[in-house]
Amino acid sequence: DAAADAGLHWKLHEPEQEDDSAWRLSLLGRLDAAIDSGEIWVAYQPKIDLSSGRIVGSEALVRWSHPEKGPISPVDFIPMAEQQNRIGKLTYHVLETAIRAAAAINSHGISFGIAVNLSARLLDDPELVVRVSSILTEHGLASNLLTLEITETVAVANSAHSIAVLNRLRLIGVVLSIDDYGTGYSNLENLRTIPATEIKIDRSFIDAIDHSRSDAVMVRSTIQMAHSLGQSVVAEGVEREETLRALRVMGCDLVQGYLTGRPMKFGALSRLLLKERRRTAA
Ligand code: C2E
Ligand code: MG
Ligand code: MG
Ligand code: MG
Repeated sequence: DAAADAGLHWKLHEPEQEDDSAWRLSLLGRLDAAIDSGEIWVAYQPKIDLSSGRIVGSEALVRWSHPEKGPISPVDFIPMAEQQNRIGKLTYHVLETAIRAAAAINSHGISFGIAVNLSARLLDDPELVVRVSSILTEHGLASNLLTLEITETVAVANSAHSIAVLNRLRLIGVVLSIDDYGTGYSNLENLRTIPATEIKIDRSFIDAIDHSRSDAVMVRSTIQMAHSLGQSVVAEGVEREETLRALRVMGCDLVQGYLTGRPMKFGALSRLLLKERRRTAA
């Protein structure tokens, strides 16, 4: 409308926005201390194999329980931590925590993979490959049980250095996945250049596939293309039975969403896995 065109809405929101960024900056000042004190923790969201119906792993999602502000979403501190080059310590903390958790589950005879989000920025860390490899060794987790999810892929696909680092991660056996596939920067160029063996279709394409013809066409062809390229497909944000059914018909490999499991604490995940084992053994 006219007010928006004139920039009036912007003005109206300016003070609030200033508060907002000041607040985020102050959060960032406490980031390292929050990691050390345990305010930062990791939630696990199950990934389900559609052909067996079983949990085959989970994505590790960082959480911040702030003593005064309560729970803070990663979307409120990850992008800023990335911008300010403060993402390293956080990433290695999540990696270590998640790999330790996955190793504990595997030690009970349950084959279980773990997916960790990797900021494209970390591809510039000369220690990345060595550190990933030594955390895996330290906890005795097979490298093919670790998936690294990467977004912001335009920068990645255009950088020979990033592609070289991703190839080194592939060589040590880590699975690479393109996250939020279909949005913003993920495109055919990335699909061709990035040595990923999995794509995660963004939830904005997934939800309506049972009633939107165009969404269904896009998701179905994306699955077919990925399969032809030898890649497996995860659907994100599955919230309804109808969506799940449609994905099964389309031959999607894995699903992750509120319908099949919310992000949860490690204790809840372990109980869920033990329950599933009892059920399938019976
Ligand atoms: P993402 O990697 O695409 O993770 C999926 C997000 O979708 C998570 O949000 C998850 O809780 C949410 N989600 C899962 N199922 C459903 C569903 O059925 N419906 C809806 N509406 N949402 C669903 P979350 O945990 O808030 O994380 C947001 C983003 O923050 C992540 O998106 C990821 O990009 C980033 N992030 C989270 N943890 C880390 C981390 O340890 N490192 C980095 N670099 N980024 C992280
Ligand atoms: Mg992810
Ligand atoms: Mg995603
Ligand atoms: Mg995302």
